[in-house]
Amino acid sequence: MRLVVLGGGESGVGTAILGKKKGYDVFVSDFGKIKESYKEVLIINKIDWEEEQHTEDLILNADVVMKSPGIPDKSPIIKKLVAAGVKVISEIEFAKPFTEALTIGITGSNGKTTTTMLTHHLLKSAGLNVGLGGNIGKSFAWQVAENKYDAYVLELSSFQLDGIIDYRPDIAIITNISPDHLDRYEYKYENYINSKFRITMNQTESDYLIYDADDEASTEWLKNNKTKAKLIPFSLTKTFDEGASINNNKMEIKINQEEFTMETEHIALEGKHNMKNAMAASSVAKLMQIRNATIRESLSNFQGVEHRLEKVLKIQNVQYINDSKATNVNATFFALDSMNVPTVWIVGGVDKGNDYNELMSLVREKVKAIICLGIDNRKIIDAFGAVVDIMVEVNNMNDAVKTAQRLTEKGDAVLLSPACASFDLFENYEDRGKQFKQAVHNL
Ligand code: ADP
Repeated sequence: MRLVVLGGGESGVGTAILGKKKGYDVFVSDFGKIKESYKEVLIINKIDWEEEQHTEDLILNADVVMKSPGIPDKSPIIKKLVAAGVKVISEIEFAKPFTEALTIGITGSNGKTTTTMLTHHLLKSAGLNVGLGGNIGKSFAWQVAENKYDAYVLELSSFQLDGIIDYRPDIAIITNISPDHLDRYEYKYENYINSKFRITMNQTESDYLIYDADDEASTEWLKNNKTKAKLIPFSLTKTFDEGASINNNKMEIKINQEEFTMETEHIALEGKHNMKNAMAASSVAKLMQIRNATIRESLSNFQGVEHRLEKVLKIQNVQYINDSKATNVNATFFALDSMNVPTVWIVGGVDKGNDYNELMSLVREKVKAIICLGIDNRKIIDAFGAVVDIMVEVNNMNDAVKTAQRLTEKGDAVLLSPACASFDLFENYEDRGKQFKQAVHNL
């Protein structure tokens, strides 16, 4: 059997290793450059590869092709493969048949990483032999090749889900759905929603789908479509016979005739959106029969993930917060919502078609000054010029942070939550967040 892997990054190289181990004739092809460290791995494992080209003769003869998530369906080589009737799948689809481990698949527009890390933390702290993968850290396929876990918590993007045929998570979570990546979905929101819901398409009556009952796109889809999975909703406002909710500042989960409760003030993560993530992750823990005391302890000591509402430093009683991962309006909405002191807000970057109206009342209520950090800030100035008195444009992080400091007084906060992608001024959101933290430390 010939396995061709398109893309020589983390998931591509992981898949190649697994394929080789299982006896496939493996070839890796990358249209860009392959990182040195990955090349070494391919060479040591005697796997053939090429870079900066796709040699059709070596690709179109595949029995199966694993496409890395970064490669769009409309790229010429994929079109040719599809026309030739070759099976094109994602890493998760290729790797799952080689492990009997239970998988928990987590998708959604925002909150995937936080929920995945928290779920992993809950299960691991309870003593389960559990791996963490998907879009985070080491690729799933690589771990299947080299480790023996009983369960995996996997962060799954819609691109991973587009490439599944039979993959069936034992437990699925859809954190929420809001418009994102529409350029990859013919600018049709509906296509993107359907793509997220592919996570449940192979689930059976013995599987679970955990979802946000406050989320319009999710509830509408479930009204109009069928899934065999048992549904476990979570909500900030509604309560359920079976599901998770927040009542009188208490998180309550009812699953399989068992109940879990915890005061929200004892949960280490902050903000409404994180209460949702905590409800989703704790529902998994309940389904996996983790003891309540263990869940409580883990929720009280989980410190969150870098670049997601991360508290950096307090200087002269001003709290600096790094939410660089907020690359869309919905994520920034929850960041602003969680602020309870006057805030200097650093926003801007590459706009992906944002509608800033959704933020208007929060900005009016909480933001005392806006610092626009982008090459083109017109849309932000137009949207908020009439609502916020002070607006400053800057084009580097040091100026942003220094200006922010000047505009604050004791008790205020400075929030970097850009609602935009970062690649006009930074390499990626991590680079942006790191520069922010560095600039704060330099104050
Ligand atoms: P993802 O992996 O889906 O991008 P992250 O956990 O990395 O999600 O969080 C991305 C951004 O979204 C961060 O700014 C974070 O504060 C915000 N966020 C986290 N959870 C939620 C949620 N449930 N709803 C909305 N925004 C969220």
